[in-house]
Amino acid sequence: MRTLVVAERKASDLRRVSLEIAAKAKELGDVGVVEIKGERYSPLAYTTALAKKIEADKPDLVLIGATLNGRDLAARVAARLGHAYAADVTAVAVGSGAALVDRPMYAGKVRAKVRVPLPAVVSVRPGALPLKDAGPTPQTEAIDADASAEKLQFVKFAEVASSGKRVSLAEARVVVSGGRGLKGPENWHLVEDLADALGGAVGASRAVTDAGWRPNEEQVGQTGKTVTPDLYVALGISGAIQHLAGMTSSKVIVAVNKDPDADIFKIADYGVVADVFEFVPAFTEAVKKQRASS
Ligand SMILES: Cc1cc2nc3c(=O)[nH]c(=O)nc-3n(C[C@H](O)[C@H](O)[C@H](O)COP(=O)(O)OP(=O)(O)OC[C@H]3O[C@@H](n4cnc5c(N)ncnc54)[C@H](O)[C@@H]3O)c2cc1C
Repeated sequence: MRTLVVAERKASDLRRVSLEIAAKAKELGDVGVVEIKGERYSPLAYTTALAKKIEADKPDLVLIGATLNGRDLAARVAARLGHAYAADVTAVAVGSGAALVDRPMYAGKVRAKVRVPLPAVVSVRPGALPLKDAGPTPQTEAIDADASAEKLQFVKFAEVASSGKRVSLAEARVVVSGGRGLKGPENWHLVEDLADALGGAVGASRAVTDAGWRPNEEQVGQTGKTVTPDLYVALGISGAIQHLAGMTSSKVIVAVNKDPDADIFKIADYGVVADVFEFVPAFTEAVKKQRASS
């Protein structure tokens, strides 16, 4: 069984999801880890380079992190090679000539167990696979993006600087999200202070991003990001199905809402019926004290 892992970097470090899938690949058998080098992600140039590598190495399974670029690349390369494909899976095993994967479906309400015949390309949700036995950082083989395949011309490329202070939302182990219950952007320091005290990232509901209180990149849910942290804290969020689609795979969910009948309490592990303006500052102070004394 040979697995090819397609790794991605954030700044100089391999992304956490790349380490997660490399650890899984090691468990399954032989592993090769490649990184595609290019000035920036470019669908055709990356797909062509990776397809050539797969044709040369003939791995049974290709694992790619289901990041923004990874999802795009995985689907394209599978279509290019005519390989079986499964997207955004949360568990991977192998047996009887097939990859056996778990796929959340219907906004996370159903977990399908899918048999994907090998050779296959699978994208894996960040945070879904455990990292505890990852071992040393894997050696990667660099392959160049195939610039000759590029048919698009970038007219302007504007990088949006994300706050360097906090971890990225998709890979954070703790996410604190705020909803319309926060009443306005001027109150977001409550969400940020708690996220900082817990060492986590800040998220938001779509009601909040639609209102322009927070940037779209912070939106969690069906039309936003899917997160799988160890701890998800929902502040003033009602728990609409579209929001749940992006966070129900979190390991522990804490909800704070003043309405005891809010839907978010149906999926929360810990529910606090309280006014966020009273509860959150006190809770943040308690977290800071606890962290300072431990
Ligand atoms: C096609 C489609 C896609 C969508 N995609 C997404 C998506 O990706 N992500 C997403 O989040 N939504 C998405 N939505 C929108 C979704 O249906 C909800 O409208 C949205 O999630 C509601 O956001 P909210 O919980 O912040 O606001 P609300 O539903 O208004 O809830 C606010 C909550 O705050 C509580 N509250 C109010 N004041 C306080 C207080 N002082 N203290 C404590 N609690 C308080 C209230 O009790 C209430 O439960 C989508 C909708 C559609 C139709």
